[in-house]
Amino acid sequence: MKQKRYFLDEKDLPEQWYNIVPDMVVKPQPMLDPVTRKPVTVEDLSRIFSLEASRQELNATDRWIPIPDKVREMYTYYRSTPLVRAYGLEKALDTPAHIYFKNESVSPVGSHKLNSAIPQAYYCKMEGDTNVTTETGAGQWGTALAYAASVFGIDSAVYQVKLSYEQKPYRRSMMQVFGSQVTASPSMSTRAGKDILTVNPHHQGSLGTAISEAVELARMTPGCKYTLGSVMSHVTLHQTIIGLEAEKQIEMAGEYPDVVIGCFGGGSNFGGISFPFLRHVLDGTRKGTRFVAAEPESCPKMTKGEFGYDFGDEAGYTPLIPMFSLGHKFRPAHIHAGGLRYHGAGAIVSQLLKDGFVEAADISQMDSFAAGTLFARTEGIVPAPESCHAIAAAIREAAACREEGVQRTILFNLTGHGLMDMAAYDQYLAGNLV
Ligand SMILES: *Cc1c(COP(=O)(O)O)cnc(C)c1O
Repeated sequence: MKQKRYFLDEKDLPEQWYNIVPDMVVKPQPMLDPVTRKPVTVEDLSRIFSLEASRQELNATDRWIPIPDKVREMYTYYRSTPLVRAYGLEKALDTPAHIYFKNESVSPVGSHKLNSAIPQAYYCKMEGDTNVTTETGAGQWGTALAYAASVFGIDSAVYQVKLSYEQKPYRRSMMQVFGSQVTASPSMSTRAGKDILTVNPHHQGSLGTAISEAVELARMTPGCKYTLGSVMSHVTLHQTIIGLEAEKQIEMAGEYPDVVIGCFGGGSNFGGISFPFLRHVLDGTRKGTRFVAAEPESCPKMTKGEFGYDFGDEAGYTPLIPMFSLGHKFRPAHIHAGGLRYHGAGAIVSQLLKDGFVEAADISQMDSFAAGTLFARTEGIVPAPESCHAIAAAIREAAACREEGVQRTILFNLTGHGLMDMAAYDQYLAGNLV
C-alpha cells in the first residue's frame, strides 16, 4: 500500500499566525493581577515575558499577526511538516473513515514545541535580553527552548521537574547539548524552591514548582525573560502555523475535516491545529466541524474541572487565569505523558469549551499506549505518550464511523515522536502500566 504525504512549497508557507480572539463570540475574561485583582496589562506581563509576547497575549483586535522573517527562516528547517493520509491505520481499523495526521514530530527537537520556542527566543533577542528561562516537565519544551536560544545566541536556564530530571536523563542531556543550564526543581537556588523544600524535603517537583522557580529567576535577573511552552494565548497563537498549513494541505487532498483532534496539556497544539478550522465555523462558512481535545483520564481538567479564576503555578506567582482547572494544588498521577500533566486549560480554549465550540474526551493511559503501539505498527512512527492520546481519540472516532457505516474525515495532530520515551513503552509491553 502506498503512503500519501502532502507538503507545501516554500512560497505557500504561512506568513501570519491566526489570532482567534477577534472572531470569538464571547471573548475570554481578562487575566487578573493576584494582588490588585485588576486586569493585567502589557506592562505587567512584560516584566517577565518579552514585550512582543506580552502584546500578543492581550491582542484582541488583530486577526492576523505577521511572522517575523527570521522566524520564518528558522521554520524552513522543518516546515512545512507533512500531512499524512494514514492508510495503514485505516486498514487496521477496517473503517470507512479517512484519517489524516499532521506530523509535528519531524521538528529538530522532535515536537511541535519548537514552533513557539523560536519566536519567543527571537523576541527576547530583538529586545536586547541576554538570557531566557523556563520550566520543563518531560523535557520537550526545555529542549525546544534550549535549541531556539542557541540559534539566536542567548543563554538559557531550564528548571526541570525533579522526577523527570532523574527518570529521563536523555532529555536533560539534549538540553545540555544545546547549551542550556538545567536545574532539578524544586531547588535551593530560588526562594520558591527553598520554601517548597522546607515544607517537604522529598518533593518530587511538578510543573507548578518549576514555573515558580523560573518566574522568580526572570524577575530577579536583569536581561532575563521567562518563556512558556503552553497555556498562554501567545503560545497557542504561534502554534496556529500547524492548522494553517494543514488547511492548505488537506485541500490539496481534496478534503475538509469533519473532526479535528489534538491531545491536551495546556491547549497549545490543540488550539494550533483547531483554530484555523474553527474560524470557518465562527464566520459561518462551515457547519458541523467537531473539535476534540484528548486529555488523560488522570488529569481531566476539561471534562471534570471547574471554570473559574486560578493560578497557572503551584506557588501562585502567575496572574489569575479564567480557565477550566483542577486547582493549582492538584497533583496528577505520574503518567508517562508528562506534557499533559497540567492542572488548567488556557483561557481561550476554556471559553470555547464553555460556549460549546469544542469538546473533550478522556483517555486512559492503557488506551493511549494501545493506540500508540497500533499506530507505530501501521504507520512506522513511535509516537510520544502525549500524542498517543490524540491517536486514541482518532481511533474512537474511526470506530464510530465503522459502527454507523459512515465516511468521515478525521484529522489529528501528531505532536511528537516517542524515541525518548522508550522506557514507558517498555513498561507497557511488560504489562507494568497502571
Ligand atoms: C507539551 C506537549 C504536549 C501538550 O502541550 P499542549 O500545549 O497542550 O500542546 C503534547 N505533546 C507533546 C509531544 C508535548 O511535548
